[in-house]
Amino acid sequence: MNVYDSERMAEILAPLGYAPGDDPEDADMVILNTCHIREKASDKVYSELGRLRKTKDRRAEEGSPMVIAVAGCVAQAEGEEMLRRAPYVDIVLGPQTYHRLPEMVARAHRAGAEAPGQRGVLDTEFPADSKFDHLPERQQANAVSAFLSIQEGCDKFCTFCVVPYTRGAEFSRPVAQVLEEARQLAAGGVRELTLLGQNVNAYHGVDEADREIGLGVLVERLAALDGVARIRYTTSHPRDVDDALIAAHENVGALMPFLHLPVQSGSDRILEAMNRGHDVAQYLDIVARLRAARPDLALSCDFIVGFPGESDADFEATLDLVRAVGFTMAYSFKYSSRPGTPAAGMPRQVPENIKDERLARLQALLEEQQQAFNADTVGRTFDVLFERAGRHPGQLVGRSPYNQAVHVATTEYQVGDIAKVAIDSCKPHSLEGHIVGSGSAHPREESEERLSA
Ligand code: SAH
Ligand code: SF4
Repeated sequence: MNVYDSERMAEILAPLGYAPGDDPEDADMVILNTCHIREKASDKVYSELGRLRKTKDRRAEEGSPMVIAVAGCVAQAEGEEMLRRAPYVDIVLGPQTYHRLPEMVARAHRAGAEAPGQRGVLDTEFPADSKFDHLPERQQANAVSAFLSIQEGCDKFCTFCVVPYTRGAEFSRPVAQVLEEARQLAAGGVRELTLLGQNVNAYHGVDEADREIGLGVLVERLAALDGVARIRYTTSHPRDVDDALIAAHENVGALMPFLHLPVQSGSDRILEAMNRGHDVAQYLDIVARLRAARPDLALSCDFIVGFPGESDADFEATLDLVRAVGFTMAYSFKYSSRPGTPAAGMPRQVPENIKDERLARLQALLEEQQQAFNADTVGRTFDVLFERAGRHPGQLVGRSPYNQAVHVATTEYQVGDIAKVAIDSCKPHSLEGHIVGSGSAHPREESEERLSA
């Protein structure tokens, strides 16, 4: 979501004459868009700011001042404190106020000109009106695949998580607004949409007539738009998987058979302490229902090891769940204590060395499953959406329905095209294949062929 937010910040600053640059050393403004989810991400912000301060000082001496802004969830969480700790920062803004960036930049320039050294601009409100009502049209030059934020914030309050405090309460964007942004993206050549939200499947229509519309129906509507060939969504929560969403997996060919469905732990006791709102049996049941609807569905996941009180047996239960489900890909993290969250104050915090051990064991198992999945794709035929030119002349790189990078030699197809590709070999991070025909707009037929074969 930070990638999406950064793109939108660039779009809103474009009319002021700003364009993304490559090197902070000669930028007129640097915006750090920050993540607060784990301590490590948060800590990076201040070390990065330390480096930027030197650049800013040098630039001031040279008479070409630089503006430093800090956006995102660390800025939201620290607020005033950030301006105290790093007084050379000009602007501190949260994830829900970046539509006001032009005004903040103007204020920062005024402050710099009229009262050098004055305290920076702070805007970490949760405004009543949505930033989405104020952002300009999308300008996705040359992108084949794009993010589209449809839902933000969270009301679930898992005991380890800062998101409800930094991104704010759960809200969805109106259906018409989402469809309009999708149309703009498709008109610019985008063929694949990844719908984003902290709990993207908690999505619901906003206007009176749309209240009953959830993610499943939204996906159907998006799939009907001209140019939209592929749809993905992330991150979904097991509690918000409803029948309409499962039906979309069954019926909407453009919806890719690949789902990120985090479970965090395979122990009922830990799931309860995390306040996840479901147990292992419920998770397995959801997976079974999804797979019944879409037998070629592949799953990816998030895990936390070393949550306070996690015993060896709890951790073994997580490994059991991984073996039972089989994941194509996963992100796994050591529990990171976040200030202000209930879990931070829980007894029986797990020592770092045990977290390290558990993470290594879990990742070895997940890696094994991922490699086995990749190897199993050799000999299969997929629709591949080409995203960019490869390193070698005459080579294109695209994505399989499972988001694997696929390298293909072709002069016939171009970036943005979909072709049927037979997979010949598998490397650790990519597949290689050859073209066997033009792709269907929707890869559903291929899956059916494979299943009946
Ligand atoms: N809403 C999504 C997750 C959003 S946060 C969900 O509930 O599934 C993204 C991931 O970061 C989480 O799935 C979790 O695995 C990880 N994460 C969040 N807080 C964490 C913490 N305090 N320590 C370690 N990992 C954390
Ligand atoms: Fe955080 Fe996800 Fe839990 Fe919300 S549902 S509190 S975003 S982990």
